[in-house]
Amino acid sequence: MPSNYDDVEPTTEAPSPEATSTETEEPEVRFADLGIDARVLAALSDVGYEKPSPIQAATIPALLEGRDVVGLAQTGTGKTAAFAVPALSRMADLPPSKATQILVLAPTRELALQVAEAFSSYAAHLENFTVLPVYGGSAYGPQLNGLRRGAQVVVGTPGRVIDHINKGSLDLSELQYLVLDEADEMLRMGFAEDVEQILSGTPDDKQVALFSATMPSQIRRISKKYLNDPAEITVKSKTTTGANTRQRYLQVMGPHKLDALTRILEVEEYGGVLTFVRTKVATEDLADKLRSRGHRAAAINGDIPQQQRERTIEALRDGKIDILVATDVAARGLDVERISLVVNYDIPHDTESYVHRIGRTGRAGRTGDAILFMTPREKYLLRAIEKATRQPVEQMHLPSADKVNELRQGKFAERITETLSSEDVAQFRDLISNYEDEHDVPAAEIAAALAFMAQGGEPLFVKELPKVPEHQKKDRSKDGFGSRGPTRTLTEGNATYRIAVGRRQRVMPGSIVGAIANEGGLTSGQIGGIDIRSDHTL
Ligand code: ADP
Ligand code: MG
Repeated sequence: MPSNYDDVEPTTEAPSPEATSTETEEPEVRFADLGIDARVLAALSDVGYEKPSPIQAATIPALLEGRDVVGLAQTGTGKTAAFAVPALSRMADLPPSKATQILVLAPTRELALQVAEAFSSYAAHLENFTVLPVYGGSAYGPQLNGLRRGAQVVVGTPGRVIDHINKGSLDLSELQYLVLDEADEMLRMGFAEDVEQILSGTPDDKQVALFSATMPSQIRRISKKYLNDPAEITVKSKTTTGANTRQRYLQVMGPHKLDALTRILEVEEYGGVLTFVRTKVATEDLADKLRSRGHRAAAINGDIPQQQRERTIEALRDGKIDILVATDVAARGLDVERISLVVNYDIPHDTESYVHRIGRTGRAGRTGDAILFMTPREKYLLRAIEKATRQPVEQMHLPSADKVNELRQGKFAERITETLSSEDVAQFRDLISNYEDEHDVPAAEIAAALAFMAQGGEPLFVKELPKVPEHQKKDRSKDGFGSRGPTRTLTEGNATYRIAVGRRQRVMPGSIVGAIANEGGLTSGQIGGIDIRSDHTL
């Protein structure tokens, strides 16, 4: 398996007073040199890992030694194996027990499931080893049964783990090893109290590993309070994004995004596609539109029940659907190798989200493509992204109407040929030749009418989209915000609303669209013209 990690440059953070730092180096290291249990080593070879990633090369020996560890590395750097492999290695040496020895806390159900799955694969050669995921939003029954039967490894979301502790169904008195995975995300999701409660309520002599992409002060505090002289290991990527992901941007105005996307889908070669939009409503909306244009697409967002989300992700993995339309939250941590194209349909709010988004492709050493849709006004975000990822994002141009039409013509001809070779055509032959005789219309005319019918009223060919002006007037400040009137004509068929802020409050059209779109669950396309007056806005 090709390795994804050659471009990663390990660096070490300035040591904090009580944390020793470990210098990490380019891993010429092999898994076999790290002191991993032979059965776990065999499982790593089964899953096809060639060599440890930098974070793995640094944390595995420290954790095998029994030290607490704080590991900081971006998404996709292999943190799961970095804590799971040494944990399993240590447990493999202990006398068999049914007690829960390893507990991993993860922020979401999806991540808990992913980690549990990874654990199971690394534990494949260990006998009588059970890994149990526990998470909120699903029935207690099966989890209770699983816990009663005994699971050496429990992977769960903090809230549900606390529930089980309080119910008495999860006994952590024999816990040896506690992992906080994606610690920053857990805190961001409001799990700080739960996490601290679990940390303080478990045996003092347990080993603790904390993994995170960033190190906010709250995590530093938790690490000082609950970890024992941790080895602090930081692996900074030279480029935060995989070098095997090609990044491009396309200048396109909001109303043309859908056409732009469908054209790209027609001309680009892709496996699975992940498309990011900003709101939950927009995920459904875009997925619907793509389906009505003949694509196999589905939406995932935070409102869709977890089980259905998982089924959808599974469908993408299995190739039953090709396009997933998602919000940032719903796609966090998503690991589907088949995704070869990430489309930022709506530009992300910050560079961090961008990096997370495009990190969903180019997984496990594969190459990936990332395309960013952007209006000229959003160009400043592009600069920020290039700065943050230290990689240029190339401009791409929309596949021309000619190119798309040529492809469509070819496909249409193919369909005719295919249909002609099927037996079912025979039943219409007489009907057509009768029509030809009776109406005295040439066969080509009849065929054209049938083709029109077959298209169901949709035009076969696309038209050239209007060009985006390179330097769109974005600065209205010279003569006051919005003094040139509505940004678009007030739209027919829409209702007009009056908002009690205007030029005096220095509002801008963008912030109004943003507010309505975020709070009201609309897409910007559903919002018509905005006319900012002195003390109100229409
Ligand atoms: P993180 O938790 O840092 O985001 P993961 O643990 O989810 O990263 O790993 C990301 C991907 O890399 C997974 O598909 C995983 O199977 C793969 N991976 C992990 N370690 C290695 C390795 N040493 N060699 C090849 N692939 C690896
Ligand atoms: Mg992870």
